[in-house]
Amino acid sequence: MRRIAVIPGDGVGPELISSTLSMLEAAGFTADWHYLEAGQPSLDKGKPAMPPETIEAVREIGIALKGPTTTPIGKGHTSANVALRKALDLFANVRPTRSLPGLKGYFMEAKIDLIIVRENTEDLYAGIEFQPHPDIAQAVKVITRPGSHRLHRYAFDMVRKQGRKKLTAVHKANIMKLTDGMFLEEFYKVAEEYPDIEANDIIVDNCCMQLVTHPEKFDVLVTENLYGDIVSDLCAGLVGGLGFAAGANIGEKCAVFEAVHGSAPDIAGKGIANPTAILFSSLMMLRHIGEGEIADLIGKSVLEMFAEGKVLTSDMGGTASTQEFTDEIIRRIQAAKG
Ligand code: NAD
Repeated sequence: MRRIAVIPGDGVGPELISSTLSMLEAAGFTADWHYLEAGQPSLDKGKPAMPPETIEAVREIGIALKGPTTTPIGKGHTSANVALRKALDLFANVRPTRSLPGLKGYFMEAKIDLIIVRENTEDLYAGIEFQPHPDIAQAVKVITRPGSHRLHRYAFDMVRKQGRKKLTAVHKANIMKLTDGMFLEEFYKVAEEYPDIEANDIIVDNCCMQLVTHPEKFDVLVTENLYGDIVSDLCAGLVGGLGFAAGANIGEKCAVFEAVHGSAPDIAGKGIANPTAILFSSLMMLRHIGEGEIADLIGKSVLEMFAEGKVLTSDMGGTASTQEFTDEIIRRIQAAKG
C-alpha cells in the first residue's frame, strides 16, 4: 500500500485533516498514512516547529498532506512551512483559483479559472534579516538565475501539460531592476523554448487591480515568493475566501500538499472550519500520484453540494459544522459510487 505522510499541524489543522481523510477513504482511497508532528505539538515538547525527523520522514516518503502551523508574528520561532520548503527544496508553490457554483459574494458572477505558480524558497522569504543599528532593520531579497529558470520551466511545462494557453510573469522590475529584472529576463529566455504558449508580464500592483476588475483574463501566473503569497490570498478572496484555496509545494523529489490558509486560531476547536481547501489540496495530491478518477469523483460531489447551496459552513454564509459538511460529502460520494 502507498505510504503518505500526514502532518496535521495545529489550530484548525488536525480537525480538517481528519475530515479530509474520512472523505478520501469514503471515496475508496486507502493509504498507509504516516503521521508526523509539526507546529504547536512539537513546540510543546521542546522541539523545533518543524522537527528534523519530520523533514527526514517526508523526504523519505516523498508525498505529504499537511495541515497549517502557527508562526508567531514579529518574534519567536521561524516558520515551520518555510523550514520544510527550504529543506526539501519545494521550489514551486502551485495555487489554483476557480469560481465555484452556488456561493454568494462580490465576485461570484465572474468566471475565474487561474493558477498561481509561486517561487517558494528565495526572495525575502530566504530569512536573511539583520539589525545594523537599533533603529534600522534590514532584509535581503535573494533572487537567483537558476532558481528563476527552474521555476519558469516548471510553469511553462505545467501550462502545456494542462492544455492552458498563457503564462504571465508578475514582478516589480521597474523598481527592483536587478532582482526582479533577473526573474523577468529568465522568464523571457525560457519562453523562447515554448512558442506555443503566449508569454507576457505585468507589474504586481497593476496585476492586483486587474485581478479584481478583469479576473477572467488571467490564465497562469508565475511570480516570486512574496508577491505570490499576497496575490494568492487576493485570488482566494475572489472565489469565496481562504476556506477554498488549495495548494501544492512541488520539488524534484518530494511534494507537500496544503491549503493556502493558516491555522485560523479564531475558529480553531469550534468545529466550524471549512474543510474544502485541505480537501482540494488532497485532490491535487491524488492527481499528482495518478489517482485522478477518485479525485474527480470527490470533486464532482463537492461541486454538486455547493451548487445546491444547502449544506454550507459559516464562511459561506451557512450554518453547517465541519462534521455536518463532511458527512454530507461522504453521503454524496457513497451515492455516486452506487
Ligand atoms: P488564517 O488563514 O489562519 O486565517 C485568516 C482568516 O481566514 C481567519 O478569519 C480565519 O478564521 C479564516 N479561515 C482560514 N481558514 C479557514 C477555513 N478553513 N474555514 C473558515 N475560515 C477560515 O491566517 P492568519 O490568521 O493570518 O494566520 C494564523 C496563523 O497561521 C499564523 O500564525 C500564520 O503564520 C499561520 N499560517 C500558516 C500557514 C501554513 O501553515 N501553511 C499559512 C498561512 C498562515
